[in-house]
Amino acid sequence: MKNIVFIGLPGSGKSVLGKMTASALKMEFIDMDSLIEKKAGMTISAVFENFGEKYFRDIESGVASDLSLSFGKVIASGGGTLLREENVKALKKNGILVFLDRNPNVIAANIKHMKRPLLSNDPAKIFALSQSRRNLYLDSADLVFPNNGPLKEDFGKLIKKISKIAESRSFSVIGDPISHSLSPLIHNTVFGVLNIFANYRLCHVLSKNLKTFTQSAAYSLKGFNVTIPHKRDILPLLDVVDEKALLCGAVNTVVIKKSKLFGYNTDILGLVNSLKNCEGAAQKNVIIFGTGGAAIGAAFATAMEKAGKITILGRNIKSADEIKTKIQSVYDAPVFAKDMQFLSEAAHEADIFINATPLGMAGFADDFTSFDFLKNLPKRALVYDLVYNPAQTSLLKEASALGLNVKNGLDMLVYQALAADELFLETELDIHFLYKVVKETLSKNQNA
Ligand code: NAP
Repeated sequence: MKNIVFIGLPGSGKSVLGKMTASALKMEFIDMDSLIEKKAGMTISAVFENFGEKYFRDIESGVASDLSLSFGKVIASGGGTLLREENVKALKKNGILVFLDRNPNVIAANIKHMKRPLLSNDPAKIFALSQSRRNLYLDSADLVFPNNGPLKEDFGKLIKKISKIAESRSFSVIGDPISHSLSPLIHNTVFGVLNIFANYRLCHVLSKNLKTFTQSAAYSLKGFNVTIPHKRDILPLLDVVDEKALLCGAVNTVVIKKSKLFGYNTDILGLVNSLKNCEGAAQKNVIIFGTGGAAIGAAFATAMEKAGKITILGRNIKSADEIKTKIQSVYDAPVFAKDMQFLSEAAHEADIFINATPLGMAGFADDFTSFDFLKNLPKRALVYDLVYNPAQTSLLKEASALGLNVKNGLDMLVYQALAADELFLETELDIHFLYKVVKETLSKNQNA
């Protein structure tokens, strides 16, 4: 949950409404003035008297910067906090800014009861402050709330508005296992960069609970992503399934509108875009290992990219055949379905080997039992593991040791997430820019 930051003139009700909001939404309340006093070791009046306004503003910027790292707090900012652009940026990073637009006449009538260093000697100053700062508040605000009426009535309306924003922007990723997922970090980074009040969480959903989850999600979420093992099982639980996802028989993104669930598959685009970051799949001889949701997405992606030959191998030849039939119903592509015992044989001619099974994934019990097939791959071949956690799976370690080109599933994860965000937010995004920002965040996170 993002922070809720109250902004506005001194005396506009930031602390009073902030405390009430925190208590109503069961969030922690933070008064920036109190944090400043703690940092300075004296009252704000004393800071102004002894060191002047610049010193006070410097401490205030430090506090704003510290708060940019927090989540789920209700924050009362100071009346002049937004005077520095760096503070606006810091508070907006993880927060929704609510401007309490209180008429200066109402503030002036009550000012003698307040301890305000800038106003105590000259109550009329509030009008000058209003004139110089109101546009700044309006420009920075995500929500403008007039606070001139009876407090009780105003508060009810305010909570309704805040809750509406919060509720309408909740997303999650469901799967089993799920604790390894980097999706919350990716999506929350995107929401932060775009300045969108939204939150994205992990949700561990067992297969037996998938139906109950989707029923409740229709009323509590704006959308969710679907990962192993639910990509296929989710289909009958959705109201509408996009044509490509239907063809694949696999959904990884669900958008919720008016309690109806719409399914999409952004894995295909994720893989296409990530392959473009290497040599691409055009004219290449591709082996796809696995026959689940990711495998069919990989088969569509490589067929779309006009791969020269696609061989789908799995322990379940029936599923491999089904994928072949589906691909050939749309694309005029040379697709072959084989049992996994033919892996070593097929490897001789491959340009790209894609692991579309969870073998080697953190939290998954099994790994490849033999890597002998890697020795048959031509030296130019790319071994692409769709698994991204751990970053270096045993498959990639073995392949690197043999001098083969390797790639893990992180790029695909980022691209499929960005495509999902375009659907969640119903807007076209600057994918190139966001990809860079997300990759930077992920690498910092890995180093942390
Ligand atoms: P899925 O639908 O459950 O399919 C898993 C596939 O792996 C099935 O074909 C399954 O065979 C096969 N498999 C499982 N254990 C096996 C074993 N011991 N030996 C041989 N085959 C085995 O899962 P998914 O959604 O396709 O995901 C597969 C992997 O891709 C996961 O690790 C997932 O995290 C990753 N992935 C990554 C991205 C990304 O963005 N990087 C996107 C999608 C998926 P059976 O059908 O016979 O059980």
